[in-house]
Amino acid sequence: MSKITIAIDGYSSCGKSTLAKALAAYLGYAYVDSGAMYRCVTLYAIRKGLIKDSHSFLPEEIVKLLPEISLTFKFNSHTKSSDTFLNGENVEKEIRQMMVSSNVSQVSAIHDVRVKMIAIQRELGKNGGIVMDGRDIGSNVFPNAELKLFMTADTDIRTQRRFDEYTSKGQHVAFGDVKLNLIHRDHEDTHRKENPLVQAHDAIVLDNSELTREQQLEYVIKLIKDLTLVVD
Ligand code: C5P
Repeated sequence: MSKITIAIDGYSSCGKSTLAKALAAYLGYAYVDSGAMYRCVTLYAIRKGLIKDSHSFLPEEIVKLLPEISLTFKFNSHTKSSDTFLNGENVEKEIRQMMVSSNVSQVSAIHDVRVKMIAIQRELGKNGGIVMDGRDIGSNVFPNAELKLFMTADTDIRTQRRFDEYTSKGQHVAFGDVKLNLIHRDHEDTHRKENPLVQAHDAIVLDNSELTREQQLEYVIKLIKDLTLVVD
């Protein structure tokens, strides 16, 4: 049985990567976090002094940096997930910081940035056997994916989850700032011109507001079996 492609899209912080990682582990597939790629470009631009605040945002200068950026992923046996490397440096923690979250949506809206990231994503997924999460995976990157999920959850529940994640990592953030960031990113991601976040016509909606991690995984595994997408 050939390995399928699973695309998981949806709003910020609604548990896409948690589900994607669990599914990949269950199926023995690769997991790719496409958002991490846009976060790496954002981090690189911040480090180069190209993003200080929203007024000093220089898209043309960011595009010039693209040839200097190499992205790789390595499986971390400790976390049982893949870490993201920017030019050989493990930046898994740094790309999750608020400064990156606050600027990633404007970076991801730049045409040349999207072209480069999408080419990498398609290369990684060309043989199937992959679970990729993001905003445009089912609608644009892999329009022929065998399973497309569109995830959503109540905004306050999503904020609480992201707030708990920051706190558990020792990062001090205000609940209100986390909520504003989610709302802002959702707005930017759904309203940008190129590859906005949209529900693909053949995607299955999964609202996990009231579901535990285990319940949502169980639901999707049942779905895969019912649709006979993967046969044991
Ligand atoms: O998934 P995550 O929240 O880490 O994604 C960070 C940002 O990267 C999103 O808010 C969005 O602006 C951008 N993104 C995108 N297309 C994807 C994945 C992420 O534009 N496929």
